[in-house]
Amino acid sequence: RSKQNGRGTYSFFGAAMNDRIAMHRALIHEMRHGITAGEFFLEYQPRFDTRAGTVRSVEALVRWSHPERGRIAPGDFIPLAERSGLIVPLGRWILETACRMAVLLPQIGISVNVSPVQFRDDMLVETVEAALRQTGLAPGRLELEITEGVLLEDAERARATLDRLKQLGVKLAIDDFGTGYSSMSYLCDYPFDVIKIDRKFISGIDGSENGKAVVQAILSLGKALGLSTTAEGVETDSQLAALAADHCHEVQGFLLSRPVPPERLPQILAKANGLPNRGGETLS
Ligand code: C2E
Ligand code: MG
Ligand code: MG
Ligand code: MG
Repeated sequence: RSKQNGRGTYSFFGAAMNDRIAMHRALIHEMRHGITAGEFFLEYQPRFDTRAGTVRSVEALVRWSHPERGRIAPGDFIPLAERSGLIVPLGRWILETACRMAVLLPQIGISVNVSPVQFRDDMLVETVEAALRQTGLAPGRLELEITEGVLLEDAERARATLDRLKQLGVKLAIDDFGTGYSSMSYLCDYPFDVIKIDRKFISGIDGSENGKAVVQAILSLGKALGLSTTAEGVETDSQLAALAADHCHEVQGFLLSRPVPPERLPQILAKANGLPNRGGETLS
């Protein structure tokens, strides 16, 4: 009887698994087509100076508008893009598009997420260099957001890549800080400029005194190492107040602004940075 159940269970999961694999294959195929068909676009989420309330930079976030399936979240297609290697051409397009947009907004910086698979690609440094050269963006205005995971596999190679990126003049941020392993040693040993504190810790601020203490500890670590600190996923006034009180440099989250299409940025900048709003006709 148990054997029968076991077999039933097996075939049930087997079928579900086959469906998943078929679905993933279809999505990868459609992604390959979608990249050239212009189905991908970028939104930008402002990062605010905690004290001044001005926008210091924006983070590029990729979106996929599928002609039949509708909007697909990055959490659903980035892993497939990584597995299939499509993240390399997609990532190149993201870098170029984001840099081209940033040239139109000279008062702020741009940050771009780099997947671990892109990071391991031999051509990453050349790709970044080409994006800067082709768009004319000053390297110091580009920040690359890298997760701790990339540092796990081949520490020496990771260091060489980070050093070469650093030599281009771009800034390096450690994204989702605190969600990986051995974060502390990475911060000391690698040339990062910015810590982005993961949303998990920011939401913990409202929960308990301990949650607040963890964020304070990360902020003092950043300060001791001379790094700039950014809080991700700020959703409440009390989180913002606590981060300001503890001298977190930058805040980002739905409380301040959701990711927006580029046409919306001039208006947001006009409001936050007191710059003349010349409209967004030139941004796309
Ligand atoms: P991430 O780089 O840590 O980006 C932050 C994510 O949190 C974004 O989700 C953003 O929309 C979301 N977020 C921002 N503020 C809040 C908030 O206050 N509350 C909540 N609940 N969420 C907030 P998104 O755009 O769905 O991206 C998810 C992840 O997918 C990113 O995490 C990043 O790892 C990856 N991703 C997105 N765009 C790109 C890209 O262009 N290239 C690569 N390689 N990865 C990307
Ligand atoms: Mg990021
Ligand atoms: Mg993040
Ligand atoms: Mg994240």
